[in-house]
Amino acid sequence: MIARLLAMAAMVLACLTATARADDLLIRNVRLIDLTAETPRWSAPQSVLVTSDRIAAIGPDITAPDDTKVIDGKGGYLLPGLTDMHVHVWDRAALGAYLAHGVTTVRNASGMPFHLDLAAKIDAGTLAGPRLLTTGPILNSHGANEQLNHQFVATEEEARAAVRWQHAAGFRHIKVYSNLTREAWAGIRAEAATLGMTVMGHTPEGVRASGVPVDHPFDMGFDQFLDADFVTIEHVESIVWHGLRNRHDSAAARALAQRIAASGTPVDPTLVAFRNLLHVAETKGAYLRRPGSEWMNPMLVATEQPVYDRWTNEAVEPNRAAFEFYKQMTKMMADAGVLMVAGSDAGIFTNIPGGSLIDELELLAEAGLSPAEALRMATLNPAQVLGEEDARGTVAQGMAADLVLTGADPLQGFATLRRPALVVAAGRLYDRAALDALLTEAAQQDLSRTQANVVAGLKAQGNDVSALTGG
Ligand SMILES: [Zn+2]
Repeated sequence: MIARLLAMAAMVLACLTATARADDLLIRNVRLIDLTAETPRWSAPQSVLVTSDRIAAIGPDITAPDDTKVIDGKGGYLLPGLTDMHVHVWDRAALGAYLAHGVTTVRNASGMPFHLDLAAKIDAGTLAGPRLLTTGPILNSHGANEQLNHQFVATEEEARAAVRWQHAAGFRHIKVYSNLTREAWAGIRAEAATLGMTVMGHTPEGVRASGVPVDHPFDMGFDQFLDADFVTIEHVESIVWHGLRNRHDSAAARALAQRIAASGTPVDPTLVAFRNLLHVAETKGAYLRRPGSEWMNPMLVATEQPVYDRWTNEAVEPNRAAFEFYKQMTKMMADAGVLMVAGSDAGIFTNIPGGSLIDELELLAEAGLSPAEALRMATLNPAQVLGEEDARGTVAQGMAADLVLTGADPLQGFATLRRPALVVAAGRLYDRAALDALLTEAAQQDLSRTQANVVAGLKAQGNDVSALTGG
C-alpha cells in the first residue's frame, strides 16, 4: 500500500515537472566547435539530444524516444548560447530582443526588485527571456558621475546598511560606481564579504578634487582594486580614465594591462558603448534612429536625451582617436592574458538590446582579437568568471541546453548571429518564426509599466522620486 502511494506520488510529481518542462529535442546534422582548443575547428555533422534543460547526448547517430521533437540543422553551426555580461533591462519587453540574437544569459548591471521577479518567471518558464542575472541597485556617492537610479551612500555605516538592504531584498551581486567615497567603499567591501556577495563595476575614485586626474592623482588609485576581488571591472574607457589618468600612452597602457593580467582580475571592455556615442557624433544624431532602436526602452530614451544632444554636437576627431586607443588597450589586455568577457551596456545610451553584443564581437575582432577569442568572451569566459564552467559555456554532454544555431560559420563573420536559425534557452526551442515574433513583441514598449517598476524600485532603495513623478 505504502509502495503504491509512493508510486502515485512520484507520478503526480512527474506530471507536474512535465508541464513545466520543455519538449525533448533532437537537433540533427549540426557542426560543433570546441572553443577550449587553441585553434578551434568545426566537427563533422553530429546530433545533439536535449532533455529538459540539459544536453543529454552528442554523437553522429543518436536515436531518441518517440515523442522527441526532431529538428534538421541542415549542416549549420551550433554554438553555446551567448552571454552579455553588461546590460540594463528596464522592462520585460526587451527580453525577446536578446533571445532573438542568440543571447541566452544576460547580467543586468543596475538591478531593482522587479528584476528578481522577472528572473524567477524566466526560470519557471512562464516568461520568454534569457537567464537573467542581476546586481542590486548601483551603489555610488554623489559626484560627477551620479545618475538618478543610483543608490547613494557616503559613510561606511550608510554603505553597510545599503548592502544589507540589497541582500535582504534578494540581491547577491553588487555593482559599484566611480564616485564612491573611501569610507563607503570600505563599508561595501566589508559587508559584502560578511554576506558572501560578489562585487563588479567601475573602480571607485573617491571624492574627485579639482585638477583630477591630470594635475592631481585620484583619491583612490586604480591599482588598489586589482586585489579587491572584483568579478569584473567594466568599460575600457573607465580603465583608461582611472588606471592611466586618462593619458593615451601606449607604454603605460601595456604596463597596466600586464598588472591587470597578473592580478587575475577579469575585464569587460564594452567597446560598443563608446563606439555608438562616436557614431552619434559622426552622423549628427541619425544613428539614434537606426533599425533596432525600436527595442530601446522609451523611458530610458527620454532620460538619455541630454546625452544624445551632447553627443550629436560632439567633435568627431578627438573621440575617434580616443576610440582607437580604447581598441589598442583592449588588444593589449588580450595579449597580456587578461581574462575578458563580452558586454554591451545594452539598454543605455543608444545600445540596442541583443544586436549590441554582436556589434561588440565585431569590434573585438576589429581591435585585433581572433574571432575565436572574441567568441570565447561571450561563451566560455563568462562561464569561468561566473564560476559556472562545469555547467555552461560549451556544447557538451551534461551542459546547460543554451544553444544558438547559425546558417554560416560565425568565425568567418559574426553577422550570421544577427539572424540565428534557432535558439534553445534552458531547453526551450525558439525557431526562426518564434524569434521573429519575439522581435515584434520587443518593439511593443510599455512606458507606464516601466515607470511603475522603476519608481517602485527607486522608492524601495530610498531615493527621492519627486522629479520623476512630477510631485
Ligand atoms: Zn552599464
